[in-house]
Order: sequence, then C-alpha cells, then structure tokens
Amino acid sequence: MGAIDVYTSYVAAGAGALVGFGLVSLVRTDQPRIRQALSLYRWAFACLGTLAGLPLMPDAARASYLQLGIGFVGMGVALLAWAFRQLNGRRTSPVAGTVLTLLTGAVLWAGAWAGDRHFVLTIGWVFTVLSVGLAVEQGWLILRSPRVSGAEMSLLGVAAGFALNWVVVLNHALTVPGPYPAHWLHAPAWLLPWSGLAIAILPLVVAAVVFAIVNERLSAQLRARALSDDLTGTLSRRGLRELGERMLALQLKPPRATAVLMIDVDHFKAINDRHGHLIGDEVLRHLAQVLRDHLREDALLARYGGEEFTVLLPVKLESEALRVAERLRRVVEGTPCRARGVSVSVTVSIGVAYHGRGESLDEGLARADASLYEAKRLGRNRVVCLPPPA
Ligand code: GH3
Ligand code: MG
Ligand code: MG
Repeated sequence: MGAIDVYTSYVAAGAGALVGFGLVSLVRTDQPRIRQALSLYRWAFACLGTLAGLPLMPDAARASYLQLGIGFVGMGVALLAWAFRQLNGRRTSPVAGTVLTLLTGAVLWAGAWAGDRHFVLTIGWVFTVLSVGLAVEQGWLILRSPRVSGAEMSLLGVAAGFALNWVVVLNHALTVPGPYPAHWLHAPAWLLPWSGLAIAILPLVVAAVVFAIVNERLSAQLRARALSDDLTGTLSRRGLRELGERMLALQLKPPRATAVLMIDVDHFKAINDRHGHLIGDEVLRHLAQVLRDHLREDALLARYGGEEFTVLLPVKLESEALRVAERLRRVVEGTPCRARGVSVSVTVSIGVAYHGRGESLDEGLARADASLYEAKRLGRNRVVCLPPPA
C-alpha cells in the first residue's frame, strides 16, 4: 500500500461520523436506557464529525482547525465510551461523564496547540487509555453475557483492533522521539497506512455496528413483550404456546413428563363487584406473585386469560403434580392480598392433567380444563385430576 494522505483519512472519518449521526438518529424507541445511549452516540458522532470541516478551511486556518478538531475527536471517543457503557446498562454519573469528556477535549486541544513532544505523548496516552479501557470493559460485559450476537462480537473486534493500534502508536511515540508529522499521527511507517485507513472507516463501522446491536435489542424486547402479560408479568397465552410447545418437545423422556395445571380464581366476579376492578387487578398481580414464589425455576407460569392461570411443570409422577397443585392451593388460601388498605381473601380451584407422551399441548390443556370444571362443580377451592380417557 502506498503512503496514505492522513488528512484525507481525517476528513473521511469526519464524513463517516456525520453519516453515523444520521443513522443513529433514525432509531425510534421508548426504552429510556437505549434512548439515552443513542443521544450520547449522536453527541459523539457530532464531535467526530468536526473533522469533515477540514477541507472547507482556508490554508492559513487549517492547522488551527485541526488542533481544535483533535480536541473534538478526544471528546468524541470519550463520549463513545460513555455511550457503550450506557447501552450495556452500566451507570455513569452525568457529572463524571461530562467532566471526563470536556477534560479529554481540553487536554488534547491544549496539547495540539502547544504542539511539542509532550503533545504527541499525550495523544498516545489518552487514546491508548480510552481505547484499551473501552475494549476491556466491552470484552468483560459481552463475553460474560449468556448469549453473544454477531454484532456484539464485531464490536468487540473493532474495539480490540483500535486499542491495539493505539498501543503500537504510543510505543512508537515513547521510543522514536521525532520528527513529528504535521498531521500528528506519529505512527511507525509500516502502521501508518493502516492507522489512516482505520481512522477513516472507524466512525462508520462503529455506527453500523451500534445500529445492528440496538436493532437486535429492540426486536428482542418487542418479542419478550409479546410473550408476556402486561398486568402480571407472567407469560401471555401466546408465550405459553411458544415456550410450552418447546418444553414438551424437549423433555418428554421417561421418566420425566409434564403436568398441566389450570388455576382459576373462585368467585372472582364477586371480588370485582365488592372491591372494584382496580383491587381485582391487584388481586391478580398478587396471585401471580404468590404462584411464582412457590414454583420451581423450571416451571412455566402463564396468564391464560381473565382470572385463569396455567402452569406447565416437569414432573416424574402424577402424585408429584398433585402435591404441587395442593401446595399452591393452600398457600393462596393462606395469603390474602393486601392492597389499598383492604385485605382480600382469595381461593383457587385447580384442574390437573398429567401430560402423557405424544399428547399435544392443546390436549393437555383441554384435560386440565375438564378437571378444573369438575373442581368447580364439587364446590371450588380444591384440586382435581381426572384420569385420562381410556
Ligand atoms: P368461578 O368461581 O366460577 O370461577 O366464578 P368467577 O366469578 O371467578 O368466574 P367468572 O368467569 O364468571 O368471572 C370472571 C370475572 O373476571 C369476570 C371478569 O369481569 C373478571 N376479569 C377478567 N379479567 C379481568 C382483569 O384483568 N381484571 C379484573 N379486575 N377482572 C377481570
Ligand atoms: Mg374463569
Ligand atoms: Mg373464576
């Protein structure tokens, strides 16, 4: 590769950052954490975008503009680090973030203005510390999470490459005193074209990767929302269908089987009539919490509709399913719902179906429903398990 014009790579980086600004501005979300991260990315790209102004400057002003630009680039990189933390749910106090950003900008701008060996070292140190810190923190956050997407891995790769670049540049500045190029990228000759190329494409690459990650997170959230029930936070009926089918398909290896429990509040209409719908809603929330607290991790809890909940439970024996159902019935009976100054006693009827191999989810649900109907008929507040049809 021939010698690269570093000025050109600065301008390309600035232009890429402006495109990145536009790209992250396109994302619409009501998620506060992601929205704040996007706002930080916009500020970061705006700072980096100042480099795009270089060619507009008259020759006499270009050197001063670049000095200022280097300050803005420092702020941009600090803001990127802040934005990545925010995207990954790490708190940064706004004061600390702002001070660090302004300080980075001021130190780099002052150094560029003074323009001596100290400055070359300052650039090296600031970008090395920022980029290595960013790469290490990203690596820590990303590699520890249970599922890592391709976009997250590319982000990690980009961050690691950028950090490595600055480690080499700093090492060069520490060992090779000068002379310093006017564009201030004091890199070893073999690295210079690559550093220039990296600087040129980095903002755009970062913007694209951020766009991909945010997109992934937002669609995962939409999915999670569609599968969960607004009022109680349990699975929705649709969630039960998706996860339930998967559960049945996965684990019906003898002696394991699945029990289906249909849980219906007794005389819930009377609770609504007596205390009002808001209290009724509180009772449903309370009930969901009680059930959740007394179920094993591997059980699925869903709100099947109105005041009816469904549990899918991996079990070995029918008696185990009956024991769990009876325990749930008893704990609901013994835990009244206290809300808005009133205490409401609730009981539930539970229909159980011991889910045989090869049966569909719907067949299991239908049998549990028949058992529930029987429990209601026999007087409510009880557990019934009808035998499967012969
Ligand atoms: P049973 O013991 O036979 O189950 O009697 P029930 O009164 O519980 O049964 P029914 O099905 O007649 O009434 C259920 C009531 O649940 C009717 C409906 O207004 C109420 N309901 C359904 N969804 C909600 C909800 O989200 N919030 C509140 N507060 N009430 C609801
Ligand atoms: Mg009902
Ligand atoms: Mg009911």
